[in-house]
Amino acid sequence: MSEHPSSNKLNFFEVHLDQLRAALEKVSPTESVRLILSEPKNEVIVHFPVRMDDGSVKLFTGYRIQHNNILGPYKGGIRYSDHVTLPEVKALAALMTYKCALLDIPFGGAKGGVRINPKNYSQTELERVTRRFTHDLGSNIGPEYDIPAPDMGTNAQTMVWMMDTYMNGAGAQNKNAVRGVVTGKTLGAGGSVGRDKATGQGVVYAIDEWAEEKNFSLDGARFTVQGYGNVGSHAAMLLAQAGALCVAVCDHSGAISDPAGLDTVELAAHVKKAGGVAGYDKATTITRDEFFGTKCDILIPAAMEFQIDAHEANLINARVVVEGANGPTTPRGEEVLLAKGVDIIPDILANAGGVCVSYYEWIQNKRSESWNLREVDSKLKERLRSAYERVREFSEEHKVSRRTAALAVAVLRVSDSYRERGIFP
Ligand code: NAD
Repeated sequence: MSEHPSSNKLNFFEVHLDQLRAALEKVSPTESVRLILSEPKNEVIVHFPVRMDDGSVKLFTGYRIQHNNILGPYKGGIRYSDHVTLPEVKALAALMTYKCALLDIPFGGAKGGVRINPKNYSQTELERVTRRFTHDLGSNIGPEYDIPAPDMGTNAQTMVWMMDTYMNGAGAQNKNAVRGVVTGKTLGAGGSVGRDKATGQGVVYAIDEWAEEKNFSLDGARFTVQGYGNVGSHAAMLLAQAGALCVAVCDHSGAISDPAGLDTVELAAHVKKAGGVAGYDKATTITRDEFFGTKCDILIPAAMEFQIDAHEANLINARVVVEGANGPTTPRGEEVLLAKGVDIIPDILANAGGVCVSYYEWIQNKRSESWNLREVDSKLKERLRSAYERVREFSEEHKVSRRTAALAVAVLRVSDSYRERGIFP
């Protein structure tokens, strides 16, 4: 199931800069801050060979883009997808800078990616790809410098391979001190409880805030989800627990619906086994357009960028779009949605739960502690609530969209830091 054709022509980084421009107009940072934010600080590109199971060798391209570290170590996910391009990773890295700034997390922004479709490779091949990529990144990552995490196409196992590879290069004395080089690890390798569901949980906390603001009850509310991976499936299962009905789901394999509400847990098990929602026999198969046109209260795009262009926005019949994915709405899509009166909770707010709990994992690794789920969830809820409030206030005061408001609040935080510290030398 491919994205809308016209959105293929968009350059994600250029789109991001346009969206940033609207925020810069509202907060007027100095010219030097504008210049600094217009490009990432470092762009690392590696081409590396990996032996396949059949003995042949393939060359892969990997990226680590470090956008900004004024607020703390670079932080951001690693994506495995055959769509990975330099502008995509640059945009995702920039979004991380603003996400951390908005949530008041002492991290900067980075993102990485390998151009590979993980579905076409065995586990042993993926392990070799991950270990070789980590090795080639070398000292460009580190627990006090740049800390990767999972993103599309990667998971806790990928992070454990990265951690183990990095640890083995750190020398016997330092091995355990560098466990925090990645977050989103398995619990056994030093991960945090609640990290697996954290992004989906954050999406739901953001929806809770929106529901409270609008005096809307989630009990019996209807929602749809695009993407049933880490973010989409956890958001769906948690919303269903709150009494909402998941009436349609779409992913790369197809789209399905059930007006009476899908069993979100059973669907997650099906996706794990079958690789996608297609073939789930307790639902009706629908088209991608029918998915976007499904009447609902809440639509959660949780797949990838540029999925909601003007075409999809015209079809959408929802009260709010909550961006679980990064950059799922094109500028034209956003224009149509806002003109129709559909609220948008922007990516850097809606999907910030992942980096929040990654931060908690990093702290736990530093202190050799393990927090419980109640502690992790309550800290996450409070942090998201306060960011949501700051965005709502800015948006109302300056009469701008929530996306512009979220970016503006984040830029203010970054530019305050540059004002205090100045430009070196
Ligand atoms: P994932 O790999 O676990 O799942 C991706 C999902 O998207 C799958 O269901 C896949 O079928 C679907 N998909 C891919 N291409 C599609 C297409 N063309 N049309 C429809 N569906 C498609 O990835 P994830 O970790 O859930 O990430 C999803 C999005 O959320 C990405 O934009 C990612 O950057 C963002 N995000 C992830 C995290 C995290 O903690 N994992 C945190 C913040 C933001």
